[in-house]
Amino acid sequence: MTLLEAKPELGGRARTAGLRRGRERWRLYLEWLAGELRSHGVDVRLGQAADASDIAALDPDLVILAAGSRPRRAEWHDNHDGMVADADEVIVSPPQPRGSASAIIVDQEGGFTAPTAAESLCHAGWTVQIVTDLPFVAAKVDSTQVWFVRRRLKQAGVTLRGTSELRHDPGGWALVDTESDEISPVPAPDLIVYADLRSARDDLSRALAEAVPQVPVRRVGDALAPRGLLDAITEGARAGVSASSSLRSHTLADSGSRRRQHLEAR
Ligand SMILES: Cc1cc2nc3c(=O)[nH]c(=O)nc-3n(C[C@H](O)[C@H](O)[C@H](O)COP(=O)(O)OP(=O)(O)OC[C@H]3O[C@@H](n4cnc5c(N)ncnc54)[C@H](O)[C@@H]3O)c2cc1C
Repeated sequence: MTLLEAKPELGGRARTAGLRRGRERWRLYLEWLAGELRSHGVDVRLGQAADASDIAALDPDLVILAAGSRPRRAEWHDNHDGMVADADEVIVSPPQPRGSASAIIVDQEGGFTAPTAAESLCHAGWTVQIVTDLPFVAAKVDSTQVWFVRRRLKQAGVTLRGTSELRHDPGGWALVDTESDEISPVPAPDLIVYADLRSARDDLSRALAEAVPQVPVRRVGDALAPRGLLDAITEGARAGVSASSSLRSHTLADSGSRRRQHLEAR
C-alpha cells in the first residue's frame, strides 16, 4: 500500500487544528497513526502532490482519495490582494504586524478555525476582531466547549461580533448588522482573514475516471464532503476495512481457482 502526501508532514488540517493550545493530544493521535502506518509497512511518500498520472503509474487496484477540502472564496477576496489570508495559513504561520495593526476574521464556519486563527494572531501582536453572520462567534462549537472557547477569546482581547457582515464599498469599510441592517463604519483593517465554508478537493477523482476508468476510486473525509475529523477517520477506516476484505476475497478466489486448476490438471 502506498500513501502519497503533498505536504512534508502527515495529518492535513488535523495537524493545523492541533496547533491550538490545549489540543496537543490531536498531535499525539497523529503520531500514533503515523506509527500504525510504519508498523503495517505502508510506503509513505511525503512531499508528493499526486496527479492522475502519478497514481496511474503505481498501477493500483483501488484508490482511496482523502485530499481534503479548499476554502470557498467569496468573489471580492481577489480585489484585496495582499491583505487577505486564509485562516489555516494564519494558524500555521501568522504574519508579523507592523506597529499596532488590526485584523478582522470573517467567520462563515462557526467552528474552531476562526478562534484558533484569532489566538494565533493575538499572540503575534495583532488587534483582532471576529465577525460572523451566524448568531454568535463559535455558534457551531458544541455546547460543552463553546463557553470556554468564547471566554478564552475575550480574555485574549478579541472582539466578537455575531449577526454581522463586513462590507467594503467606495465609502469605506463597515460592519452591517444582518438583523437590523444598521451600518457601522470601521477603520480599514490591515489584514482580513477568512474562515470560509469549504469545498471538497475532488478534482483528482474526475481526472482518475478519465485516466484509469477501470480503477475504483473511493472518496473519504472532506474530499467527499467537508465536515469534521470524526467523519474523515470513520470513512477512512471503513474504506480500509472494505479494501482489505475485498483483497482477501480476491486472494481466496485466486487460491480457489488455482486449486481448481491444479485438481483439473491431475
Ligand atoms: C483550526 C482547525 C480546527 C478544527 N477543529 C475541528 C474540530 O474541533 N472538530 C472536527 O471534527 N474537525 C475540526 N477541524 C476539521 C478537521 O481537521 C478536518 O475535517 C479533517 O482534518 C479532514 O480530514 P481529511 O483527511 O478529510 O482532509 P485534510 O485534513 O484536509 O487532509 C487532506 C490531505 O491531503 C493532502 N493532499 C491534497 N491533495 C493532494 C494531492 N494531490 N496529493 C497528495 N496529497 C494531497 C493534503 O496535503 C492534506 O494533508 C478543524 C480544522 C482546523 C483547520
